[in-house]
Amino acid sequence: MSKNSDINNIATQLLNAQNNIENVAQKYNRSASAVTLMAVSKTKPVEDVVAAYNAGQRIFGENYAQELFDKHQKLSHLADIQWHYIGPIQSNKTKIICQSASWIDSVDRLKVANRIDTHAKELNKNINLLLQVNISNSPHKSGISLEQVNELAESINLLEHVTLRGLMAIPDNYDADEMGNRPKLNQEFNQMLACYSDLQQQYPSVDTLSLGMSGDLDIAIECGSTMVRLGTAIFGKRN
Ligand SMILES: *Cc1c(COP(=O)(O)O)cnc(C)c1O
Repeated sequence: MSKNSDINNIATQLLNAQNNIENVAQKYNRSASAVTLMAVSKTKPVEDVVAAYNAGQRIFGENYAQELFDKHQKLSHLADIQWHYIGPIQSNKTKIICQSASWIDSVDRLKVANRIDTHAKELNKNINLLLQVNISNSPHKSGISLEQVNELAESINLLEHVTLRGLMAIPDNYDADEMGNRPKLNQEFNQMLACYSDLQQQYPSVDTLSLGMSGDLDIAIECGSTMVRLGTAIFGKRN
């Protein structure tokens, strides 16, 4: 359960996040409307999601299939809420993910994309997909390499009940140098931007580059992110 003070906080923090996005976009000569804010509500109660919704937020991200499913069910009366699944995908969970989400942002193999396509057909819906790139080559993160993007995109583009919308990445946590810079992070985000621009040339449906979380929002917007995913900055620390 959430206290009233938490709910007021969420509205304030959401507003702060929107202002922050606006300021950073302006700093890098980008339009703030080109950067969409996703509120990542994983581990937080539905009351917190409702608080953000009532403050105007519509796009939410969840990492755990069952948690997404439960929240989607409880909030099914909020017709214009948009759920993104952003967590690792187990094949046996694809069905409940497809029942709950209109976007799946963490696709990393064709087998999973095929299952999503089959479920989407059964559910008579179209599901938007992002390919997750393991941009830091981290052994602990899922995602394909940049070199694998074209092949997976080509196969997914042939599927009928999904739409390829772009790319997503979760980089490693890099410490800042003495100057406060994180050159490795800049480099990796720029690699993502180049790959995304290339994909856009090939597929007109591609319009989303999901980069940036609470700790690296600035660099992500500088490097062309069109969707930032904020959890902590909106809902506070997770337990
Ligand atoms: C948890 C999570 C976020 C939000 O992270 P914060 O640092 O809390 O903003 C964003 N993207 C993904 C994929 C996540 O799992």
